[in-house]
Amino acid sequence: MGNSNSKGGSALEDFGIEYASAIESTSLVNIKDNYGLFIDGDFVDSSGKSFETLDPSTEKPLSVVSEASSEDVDRAVQAARVSYEKYWRKMTGADRGRYLFRIARHLQERAREFAVLETLDGGKPIKESRDVDLPLAAAHFFYHAGWADKLEYAFPQRELEPHGVVGQIIPWNFPLLMAAWKLAPALACGNTVVLKPAETTPLTALLLAEVIRDVDLPPGVINIVTGAGETGSAIVEHPEVNKLAFTGSTEVGKLIQRSAVKRNLPLTLELGGKAPHVIFEDAALDQAIEGVINGIFFNQGHVCCAGSRLLVQESIAENFIDRLQKRIELLRVGNPLDKNTDIGAINSKAQLERIDLLVKAGIEEGAEVFKPSCSLPEKGYWYPPTVLTGVQQSHRVAREEIFGPVLVVQTFRTPEEALEKANNTPYGLSAGIWTEKGSLIHWMAERLRAGVIWANTFNKFDPASPFGGYKESGFGREGGMHGLGAYLKNTGGR
Ligand code: NAP
Ligand code: MG
Repeated sequence: MGNSNSKGGSALEDFGIEYASAIESTSLVNIKDNYGLFIDGDFVDSSGKSFETLDPSTEKPLSVVSEASSEDVDRAVQAARVSYEKYWRKMTGADRGRYLFRIARHLQERAREFAVLETLDGGKPIKESRDVDLPLAAAHFFYHAGWADKLEYAFPQRELEPHGVVGQIIPWNFPLLMAAWKLAPALACGNTVVLKPAETTPLTALLLAEVIRDVDLPPGVINIVTGAGETGSAIVEHPEVNKLAFTGSTEVGKLIQRSAVKRNLPLTLELGGKAPHVIFEDAALDQAIEGVINGIFFNQGHVCCAGSRLLVQESIAENFIDRLQKRIELLRVGNPLDKNTDIGAINSKAQLERIDLLVKAGIEEGAEVFKPSCSLPEKGYWYPPTVLTGVQQSHRVAREEIFGPVLVVQTFRTPEEALEKANNTPYGLSAGIWTEKGSLIHWMAERLRAGVIWANTFNKFDPASPFGGYKESGFGREGGMHGLGAYLKNTGGR
């Protein structure tokens, strides 16, 4: 599978050590030949077309999935409306919480099955779907289950109501986790939902539909409609949707905002990012290297909050880049089902082409490129971990989100210059700071225009901690009490 760094003389190979492959079994996963839409508590046929979802690491089709038309979306919205009036808005918070606890426990019980399916459908390494996506998805349901009967304490002296029917559209990079981020707070607050997963990664949302049936959630509380952009647009345009929540590109986010504004519809947008990862000369370098690696190569860099712009202090830049490149030589690219794999497949052909295009643009504008000596599998969509140095602020690769395993490097001399460069971006989702000096961390954190800031760590998530951006990274927060508040409307009180 070409998942080893065959050349390049990495430290491990100098000692003659090689990893044996450790492929996770797929026997737990039962993928059906085709899937209907999950509407009103059951899988139903769509009124029209269907499409294939494939395994991006092999290009082999996995299943055929229904494409929901606007009539199908209408059916789903009607089911959500009836369910809202009939069951969900009347239910006590404690009872709603019970359902959320049950979903969380089922996710834990079936975690391996979900993790393998997530890896098959999306290409991410099994160690990530197993150790990050699944535990966090369950944690979001547990966390919000706990809030369901305590909303009056979360927002005291206010009269609050759910919005009603919520339309939710999610991307392909964390398919199940993004579904959990969206569904859990919506349900905890008493809303019913129509959710659309991304076209390339619908399967874990459809497996979640099975869980939803197994826990006897009243029919219509969660409806899952698969499809592409047009299906998403049908949700956005539906006149009886009372709130919208979207995670995806800034481009589509702007379209949705235009539509929502016309109808004065409550909206949260989680969009793209181009996060600065700032390394000061006094940082603990070994830890910082690991932080930078995790920051950009986690999930092949398909992460909105990825630390994709490395800003390193000039005095340590040469040494730091040298050590970083040695570390990159040790990363294992290949079969996502291998438990040793660090970097899996790129999610789709379209995304691979976009990464390639941007890196070529960077080279044309004068950047120097570093790629390790790893070999890539022949079939499937692959991109090696890549570092671009000699990048200027005006270069496309410094300004546009690449959304792949590509790190762009710039240097700075003073904290003021680091701050200036860090904030010089249309985005504002996340940022990272590495220094041993607490006062410098506070000085930077106060001035960085980013919704999430990590210091001496990166990519740490918790359901209690709100996540979201500024500027073109969107608005609204997910997680914590801030995220909860977005699913309630104020009808009185303070
Ligand atoms: P995208 O095209 O915006 O897609 C996101 C979702 O919206 C998908 O389900 C997509 O359907 C759907 N969609 C596409 N066109 C639509 C339309 N006109 N109306 C309504 N829905 C529509 O984004 P992507 O390229 O797939 O995903 C990568 C982007 O998402 C990156 O820019 C990344 O930064 C961002 N992202 C942000 C966060 C965050 O939390 N801030 C998290 C993850 C990703 P399809 O299934 O057809 O694509
Ligand atoms: Mg797929």
